[in-house]
Amino acid sequence: MGTKINPDYCKGCHICIMICPRKVYEHNKSLSNSGYPVPVVAHPESCIDFNKGPSDKKKCALCVLTCPEHAIDWAYEDN
Ligand code: SF4
Ligand code: SF4
Repeated sequence: MGTKINPDYCKGCHICIMICPRKVYEHNKSLSNSGYPVPVVAHPESCIDFNKGPSDKKKCALCVLTCPEHAIDWAYEDN
């Protein structure tokens, strides 16, 4: 539900933290295995598209579309 970040792709640019209108993402105190400050999906339930299913049209998707590393994807119950 909401969104998830793939830590293998994220380079820690923090665009998602700055762009999300609902403050879903927060800075992480620790680094990923690759050494990047991958943000935390701190408030997934605040996402505008939190209750959307895989085939539902999304209203926001700003973070998914703007992440330069394509590291953000939708999180559903079965993935
Ligand atoms: S925008 Fe993408 S690459 Fe940048 S911090 Fe967020 S998830 Fe990582
Ligand atoms: S889809 Fe929009 S509201 Fe949801 S986490 Fe991404 S930028 Fe924030």
